[in-house]
Amino acid sequence: MTRTYVIGAGFGGLALAIRLQAAGIPTTLLEQRDKPGGRAYAWQEQGFTFDAGPGDHRSYGD
Ligand SMILES: Cc1cc2nc3c(=O)[nH]c(=O)nc-3n(C[C@H](O)[C@H](O)[C@H](O)COP(=O)(O)OP(=O)(O)OC[C@H]3O[C@@H](n4cnc5c(N)ncnc54)[C@H](O)[C@@H]3O)c2cc1C
Repeated sequence: MTRTYVIGAGFGGLALAIRLQAAGIPTTLLEQRDKPGGRAYAWQEQGFTFDAGPGDHRSYGD
């Protein structure tokens, strides 16, 4: 079967790669950074953890 390549391991790429793999399609996920997350990236520096992305995924209002 043809292998599929997904570029970018943000939420979008992760969700797509998981679905492709679950559907039985061989999938390779390519990410330019040292770890996944995309805009939800977090990093450690001088003993602190910095969270650069989403902090709240609730829906507001009703
Ligand atoms: C401060 C902040 C707060 C937020 N708060 C919320 C929230 O509360 N609720 C909510 O629903 N959303 C929130 N968002 C939005 C949410 O984070 C983004 O919509 C979501 O993460 C986007 O995911 P994505 O996969 O589309 O793109 P991205 O997260 O941008 O991922 C793209 C990935 O592709 C990689 N990439 C790009 N080009 C290449 C290449 N050529 N080769 C290899 N890899 C590549 C990048 O390194 C990156 O990892 C927030 C965003 C920010 C910045």
